[in-house]
Amino acid sequence: MSIVDSVIQELDGYFNGLASQNYLGSYIYQDWGQNTYIQGTWTSDFDKSSKKLNDSLDDKVYFAGETYNTHGITPNRGFYIIRGSVQSAILSGYEVVDQILE
Ligand SMILES: Cc1cc2nc3c(=O)[nH]c(=O)nc-3n(C[C@H](O)[C@H](O)[C@H](O)COP(=O)(O)OP(=O)(O)OC[C@H]3O[C@@H](n4cnc5c(N)ncnc54)[C@H](O)[C@@H]3O)c2cc1C
Repeated sequence: MSIVDSVIQELDGYFNGLASQNYLGSYIYQDWGQNTYIQGTWTSDFDKSSKKLNDSLDDKVYFAGETYNTHGITPNRGFYIIRGSVQSAILSGYEVVDQILE
């Protein structure tokens, strides 16, 4: 799949060719919305993301989006931001940028 080649190529740039050296040549692609027994998936509104999920790859690749909300339903600067929301995704983006700038 060309997207896999493209990602491996990009990661090679960050990790001095280690991505393609360690790539086993296989991957799993899953469209949960098309799976008869799953029919889609969503992020819990109330639980916060785990630190492990949010860890960067050697401070080179970072993750952001609603799933990476580290607050859950707790108030943040006077507002309640549920995890599965646009606000949550935006907050996560700001927090990752803060981490990169630190
Ligand atoms: C039906 C519905 C109603 C909602 N209503 C609201 C609402 O009223 N208010 C609210 O705040 N939130 C609402 N939400 C939630 C909100 O849409 C999400 O929280 C928000 O869009 C998450 O943003 P994100 O950037 O984390 O992820 P997304 O918006 O899902 O962006 C992820 C992007 O990555 C792309 N992508 C995925 N895999 C790959 C890949 N391998 N390569 C390249 N690109 C890829 C996807 O195509 C997508 O464009 C709703 C969600 C749904 C499903």
